[in-house]
Amino acid sequence: MSYILYDMRERVAVVTINRPEAGNAQNAALLKELDEAFTRAVDDEEVRVIVLRTEGKHFSTGHDIAPEVLEQAPWNTMFDDVSQTGLLRMYDWEAKHYFGYSRRWRDIPKPTIASVQGACVAAGLMLCWPMDLIIAADDARFTDPVARMGIGGVEYQGHGWEWGARKAKEMLFTAGWMDAEEAHRLGMVNRVVPRAELDDATFALASQIAKMAPHAMRMAKRSINAMLDAQGQHQALEVGFLTHSLGHANAWATHGQVTTAGLAEMAEGNRAAAKD
Ligand code: ZN
Repeated sequence: MSYILYDMRERVAVVTINRPEAGNAQNAALLKELDEAFTRAVDDEEVRVIVLRTEGKHFSTGHDIAPEVLEQAPWNTMFDDVSQTGLLRMYDWEAKHYFGYSRRWRDIPKPTIASVQGACVAAGLMLCWPMDLIIAADDARFTDPVARMGIGGVEYQGHGWEWGARKAKEMLFTAGWMDAEEAHRLGMVNRVVPRAELDDATFALASQIAKMAPHAMRMAKRSINAMLDAQGQHQALEVGFLTHSLGHANAWATHGQVTTAGLAEMAEGNRAAAKD
């Protein structure tokens, strides 16, 4: 694995995204490795709890949209022949690798904890939201600015579930930032800890949960996730992903590319965020 580190301590699997030089931006290979790491942790009976953390100043600056990466993006060649076929292929690709991974990770049959620091941008949310618990450093901040690209929000539209309807709309309408304290107040984050204590606090919680009966943890998780699905989360996320895909289709129809505008600007912003 070139992007992911995997460690096991006291029955806790620690999965680390190790791409700090790019603000832990996500490309196709990174996501595939991350999915493989989760699968490894699920399959290992010794593992009781899974921690997802990232190396460096920022948790994740989202999908890697640097121009040279976009040129190599998996969906790019999908548009070589007929645009409509390309859109369908892009939909299939995102359904599996973006929306699909996040959905599957939500249902990992073991407790999962995200450990978040610095910037968590757009698809960064799609890494931490599917985890059961989120521990944030006091410097963590969150945003989904995808509306600037002509699309309603990221592929996994958990905003309303995490922040409530009004705050979710404000975020999507303004592409603003939310700090760790506000995310905590709104219930998205379990605990906020000083940046220097993030790893220790996350591991202490994971280690505490690892001492509990694994079957009970699994059933507790199943039960709470079923509650969310009974409230309509599954279907709402499906519709959210469809509207996201409609955003790509609209951009293709009106601009001949998968987003209307702002990619270069956003790539620049992500790089700046990765540096500061
Ligand atoms: Zn997309």
